[in-house]
Amino acid sequence: MENLTSSVFPTWCPGCGNFGIWGALKQAIVESNIDFENLIIVYDVGCSGNMADFIKSYGVHGLHGRALPVAAGIKLASHKLTVICVVGDGGCLGEGMGHFIAASRANYDIKVLIHNNGVYGLTTGQVAPTSKTGFKGKSTPDGSLEKGVNPVALAILSGATFVARSFSQDINLTKDLIKQAISHSGFSVIDILQPCVTWNKGFGYDFYKSRVYQLDNFEKSDKNKAIGKAMEFEDTWERLPIGVFYEDQEKKAYHEFLPQIREKSLIEGKNNFDLEKLIEEFR
Ligand code: SF4
Repeated sequence: MENLTSSVFPTWCPGCGNFGIWGALKQAIVESNIDFENLIIVYDVGCSGNMADFIKSYGVHGLHGRALPVAAGIKLASHKLTVICVVGDGGCLGEGMGHFIAASRANYDIKVLIHNNGVYGLTTGQVAPTSKTGFKGKSTPDGSLEKGVNPVALAILSGATFVARSFSQDINLTKDLIKQAISHSGFSVIDILQPCVTWNKGFGYDFYKSRVYQLDNFEKSDKNKAIGKAMEFEDTWERLPIGVFYEDQEKKAYHEFLPQIREKSLIEGKNNFDLEKLIEEFR
């Protein structure tokens, strides 16, 4: 844990749900025994993305909404790496919605942690794709009209092969789910309900604590049941299931279908290229 912790202490607001995810992610990495030189974390822009400064690992802080294509490119170039994406609900499901669906369909072997606080926090409180209908914020003072995106149902429908939901305050569950995602081969999504205590006060710890419940012995190979369960909260927002909704252990990850990189990754294979020359060409 110490080796993963940078010298910069998080600048998140006191009480922000990102703290729980930060701790859970570091624990999951350590307990998964990942060699740090084979780990890379790709961050989107947002409060969650600021974690790039708070974890000491290889990483890329991508453009807003573009973390997933960067992660997919890294995985295809060097598929021996464990590639984790830290994204907010805004970047992933607003600006990056097309990438999210494309990456789910492809089943790239990357692990996506969606810090879902239902608001654009870094830009101080605008309506987000996951905001509940009627959300009042700076950009929707009279309440939003759109239906919120359900990240779990969308991921399953689009082809992701490991899909879960967690609550940031439940650090143990979040850690366990991240470990399962790391060991799963394929596109893995964890929708993590993360209170933004500054800009989405209606969806704070008390709101979630009285509603979340853990799935128990859920049949996670049945896609239809998984989608139904993922949508359980939509009408009333009274009960919010957390845990693993869906897992397909049979479907191969994208890179496993490519004969040219099946044995060796692109950077090890006979197509070995001189990085210096490449950089010079685009300088
Ligand atoms: Fe966390 Fe919200 Fe503060 Fe961002 S604005 S650091 S999401 S509490």
